[in-house]
Amino acid sequence: MFDRASVVTPGGVNSPVRAFRAVGGTPRFMVSGTGPYLTDADGREYVDLVCSWGPMILGHSHPEVIAAVQEAVSRGTSFGTPGEGEVALAEEIVARIEPVEQVRLVSSGTEATMSAIRLARGFTGRAQVVKFAGCYHGHVDALLAAAGSGVATFGLPDTPGVTGATAGDTVVLPYNDLDAVRAAFAAHPGEIACVITEASPGNMGVVPPADGFNAGLKELCAANGALYISDEVMTGFRTSKAGWYGVDGVRPDLMTFGKVMGGGFPAAAFGGRGDVMAHLAPAGPVYQAGTLSGNPVATAAGLAQLRLLDDAAYAKIDAVSAELRSLVGDALTKEGVAHTVSAASNMFSVFFTDEPVRDYDDAKKQDVFRFTAFFHAMLAQGVYLPPSAFESWFVSTAHDERAVERIAAALPAAARAAAEATA
Ligand code: PLP
Repeated sequence: MFDRASVVTPGGVNSPVRAFRAVGGTPRFMVSGTGPYLTDADGREYVDLVCSWGPMILGHSHPEVIAAVQEAVSRGTSFGTPGEGEVALAEEIVARIEPVEQVRLVSSGTEATMSAIRLARGFTGRAQVVKFAGCYHGHVDALLAAAGSGVATFGLPDTPGVTGATAGDTVVLPYNDLDAVRAAFAAHPGEIACVITEASPGNMGVVPPADGFNAGLKELCAANGALYISDEVMTGFRTSKAGWYGVDGVRPDLMTFGKVMGGGFPAAAFGGRGDVMAHLAPAGPVYQAGTLSGNPVATAAGLAQLRLLDDAAYAKIDAVSAELRSLVGDALTKEGVAHTVSAASNMFSVFFTDEPVRDYDDAKKQDVFRFTAFFHAMLAQGVYLPPSAFESWFVSTAHDERAVERIAAALPAAARAAAEATA
């Protein structure tokens, strides 16, 4: 299948990290998923610790989500008109997340961050955007700029195809460094439209915000007339009922969502302050649109999933995450492998270093070759981890004792493989 795919699709995949290039080998083609398990095209079963990169928080093929999808699809798949499902999903989001007074539905996290930034620029009349090295906000041109080091470095395009002009309005700063943000505002007075940050980053591995970092961002934005945009595409409806906002309570001006809220379908959103959202077309002048935005099947899936995510569900996910973190940590310690298990609520990842990881530069100092050995040993024993040392691991309400036992049984050999790996 990979050979076939490689003929008709660049690199054989429709999203780069699926290709196993970071770890080597051939990506697995999955044909079905049930609960915490995936089955590949060769009939092998895996305990899934990727959960479609976050969305499958109830596990695969949850019967109530499937039933909601079947019911919706039986009435038609897209109408290109307003519909009740999208209103109900918007109401659910507004009810859960207090700073969101209004919300606009879109089809991917990338669209959500792209649109939020456009709105911030339209609202403030300013051009510049501050982002942090190691934070991923989708493949928005202006946000595919990574750091030069140092304070207030203007971003250089990270990929061919993004022009210097586009990236030139992006200021890339080191994560968890409020002094750098302060200096950027001082260097560009009246020019910064917004600061966008992952609410708690999971795209350089899991690197939670230091105490007071998000609150400091909010304060600096408010003092300088810029908007504070919290990207909760990954953390939203995962790290608590109200996402990371439910953990740290820092009130953003705008927020972005995706993944969990779509129940495995393409649904995402951005929302926030009513006076800011009022600038969006057709209520206001900032244009934004989408043929499939608020799609009835996607909104039915998302709504069914969110309605099942009550306090008990989060308690279950938190507990299984804590259990796995301690199992992984114990196995690596036993083999003398330097590591740090880093967690933000129930999201976690393992850095193969015992130095503290506070930003992207720290994360890159880990022994990636040890992760690679660990990954392949787990895969060979039927545990599917993210195929990169810089990604969060995800669990679901479906990860029961049997799934945890299978992971526990695979860990000693994987820890040994990590210990024996050479650069
Ligand atoms: N923002 C964050 C924090 C993400 O983790 C992602 C995707 O992983 C995105 C935005 C982009 O979302 P999508 O892949 O749906 O475009």
